Amino acid sequence: MTTTHEVSLPPAALSNAVVALFRQAGSSETEARLVAEQLVGANLAGHDSHGVGMVPLYIDVLVAGELTLNRRPDVVLDQGPLTVLDAGVGLGQVAGHAAMQVAIEKARAHGVSLTGLRNSHHIGRIGHWAEMACAAGLVSIHFVNVIAHPVVAPWGGSDARLVTNPFAIGVPRPRAEPLVLDFATSKLAVGKVRVARNMGKTLPAQVLLDAEGRPTRDPAALFDEPRGALLPFGDHKGSGLALMCEILGSALFGGPVMHQKPGRVRVINNMGTIAIDPARLGGGEALDDQIARLLDWVKASPAAEPPEGVPRAVQVAGEPETRSRRARAAGIPIDGETWRQLTEAAGKVGLDERAFRHAAGLD
Ligand code: NAD
Repeated sequence: MTTTHEVSLPPAALSNAVVALFRQAGSSETEARLVAEQLVGANLAGHDSHGVGMVPLYIDVLVAGELTLNRRPDVVLDQGPLTVLDAGVGLGQVAGHAAMQVAIEKARAHGVSLTGLRNSHHIGRIGHWAEMACAAGLVSIHFVNVIAHPVVAPWGGSDARLVTNPFAIGVPRPRAEPLVLDFATSKLAVGKVRVARNMGKTLPAQVLLDAEGRPTRDPAALFDEPRGALLPFGDHKGSGLALMCEILGSALFGGPVMHQKPGRVRVINNMGTIAIDPARLGGGEALDDQIARLLDWVKASPAAEPPEGVPRAVQVAGEPETRSRRARAAGIPIDGETWRQLTEAAGKVGLDERAFRHAAGLD
């Protein structure tokens, strides 16, 4: 009988379960491990909306024949520091990894590189790709567009035209955790609205519009027909960044943008990555000291007392994720409904519940 209780799994066990599922689906060992590494990494970082809970969607898309396993991206352009790859709707974890390998190699060779990845299936948490560049000692900037059913209204508009186009920047720090700024350009991620609906909660004000373009706090307005729209974060500023994600994350290197109707494809990501080798600009200890002093200065601001009353100290990008990794190192909580969906997804590719639980070290 399928459990509907929360489970808590060590990261390696959760990863083994995902690997077993994708091996059964037909992925190579390398592909299955890349998928597991990124999804479990998102759970570890505290971003459950982009963790193993994505597997049921991936499997549904695979079963519908809209996703190709074991597909390495094609090189469309290779000119000095410029590269364009086309993933042919292969798994985003493989495509993203391949794109970052090229971005890193070329930034080392030229000091800077621009890598366009187009037509990939979902590439997950973008911070993962920034962390890959940081681990190689490189700064990276990522513009990403999402081609799917529109869910975000442009600032000043009243219906959905774009998706949640994420943006990320990673800055390596040789003697500390990297700074990784990584967010969706909508006020709330779609996954967070879904959680609010499932829990019967209302949303904060000024996050969502209903189908008539009027503000609503009812999360169902994003999912029930006729559908409403999320607002961009930061009003015209976030809306402008989302638009630039369409251009620098896709159009610039020949990828699809949102006015081209998505058709049957459920989710496509395109990503433009600029990687910079800071060592070529002097970098080294002087840069690291400068960043450390800047962070000390910013963090010396006394904690503010927000309306909800709990004082908040200044944090910098990447710190909440580092804290989550420590807290979840021994066990990642997976809610009962997500576990049920994962077990069901395993079944769809022919891995029965006993084998799936065994792979997760549960039985
Ligand atoms: P979020 O609102 O949780 O913001 C996360 C960022 O803000 C991180 O850089 C974090 O370190 C920083 N941060 C959080 N709290 C902070 C604080 N108090 N002080 C300073 N910095 C703080 O992120 P989100 O918008 O919900 O996005 C979640 C994830 O979804 C991201 O990893 C993003 O890449 C991913 N995403 C992916 C897609 C896709 O199509 N692949 C689409 C949208 C979002």
